[in-house]
Amino acid sequence: MSFRDTEKQFAFEVYPKREVTLVRGEGATVWDDTGKSYIDCTAGVGVANVGHANPHVARAICEQAGTLISCAGIFYNDVRARLMEKLVTIAPDSLRRAFLCNSGTESIEAAIKFARHSSGKSEFVCAMRGFHGRTFGALSATFKYRDQFEPLLGGFSFVPFNNIDKLRAAVSVSTAAVVIEPVQGEGGVRPGDAEYMAEVQALCTERGVLLIVDEIQTGFCRTGSMFACEQFGLRPDILCLAKALGGGVPIGAVLTSDRLTPEVGMHGSTFGGNPLACAAALASIEFMEENRLDAHAREMGEHFAATFRASQPERVRQLRQMGLMIGIELKEKATPYLMALMDEGVLALSAGPTVIRLLPPLTITRDELDVVLEKLLKVL
Ligand code: PLP
Repeated sequence: MSFRDTEKQFAFEVYPKREVTLVRGEGATVWDDTGKSYIDCTAGVGVANVGHANPHVARAICEQAGTLISCAGIFYNDVRARLMEKLVTIAPDSLRRAFLCNSGTESIEAAIKFARHSSGKSEFVCAMRGFHGRTFGALSATFKYRDQFEPLLGGFSFVPFNNIDKLRAAVSVSTAAVVIEPVQGEGGVRPGDAEYMAEVQALCTERGVLLIVDEIQTGFCRTGSMFACEQFGLRPDILCLAKALGGGVPIGAVLTSDRLTPEVGMHGSTFGGNPLACAAALASIEFMEENRLDAHAREMGEHFAATFRASQPERVRQLRQMGLMIGIELKEKATPYLMALMDEGVLALSAGPTVIRLLPPLTITRDELDVVLEKLLKVL
């Protein structure tokens, strides 16, 4: 039986599967079990920013695995301390403390609890088309995928993204926080307008409402800066991180401002802050800094956009791009083009029915990106 058949038999399948079995990766390339290579513009859905099987990260994982893998939060730990300090150092300077968890959705769960606990208020204003995860709290802040699972948490309302008047009208004395992605990822790769983001920040400050920024997908150099917050001048009270943080190892983080007050016993996680994931995260961040992945993502993104726009195919409605977070909105369904791209040796994602989403490793070379461009223009 092939591995594909085995998964088909044993998985409690919740994913729309592609008929390919990936077994190895290096940099921006992955290989399937027949030896065919692909340029991976999915990067594990925005995880492998430092490239697949990054040697610096692999070394750190091996060393830490032979030293100490688990260490409960009730004890202090050297690697965890260094990671928390590093995260606070690279984040917007409104952020002072870190809580570590294991995934994006857990980061949002913690953010919701922390915001309710510190503000004494229970309501959240979120964005239409926003995506924050699949567990009950995060799903309550998410615009789609909800219907089969209601009742969700109460107190969550949704307003159109990039519309400050609607947001202003929705924020009330009961609002604990506004929840926002700087670029909506799953919702179609839709960047916030600079003016809108500035107004969101001003509104939260003016009304004393907490600002929760979800950079789970946009973080760690993806949009051309360590965090997209920098480009929008945002000063979050809570910054939610995961995906690329661990270089592929599961880890999430919640960074908090001084407006959030921790209390012993209010939250916890068995695996949160384990030294293995912390070592992987430290090595990933070091690699991003040493190799200036922020500048590289910016340059490669600009190169992609300029080349694509110069010969933009007829069936493309709009290209939306910030760094190497790229959305190509088509005038028709995206899936057939994703399949054609896969045949051509390029793996890409969708973001809604009509958007092709590219999230390549940020180590992708110009030559590799040129191949992606050539194949894209060919299939489109
Ligand atoms: N928030 C955003 C912006 C995301 O893109 C995602 C995942 O795609 C999540 C939250 C949920 O993260 P996870 O899948 O690690 O739970």
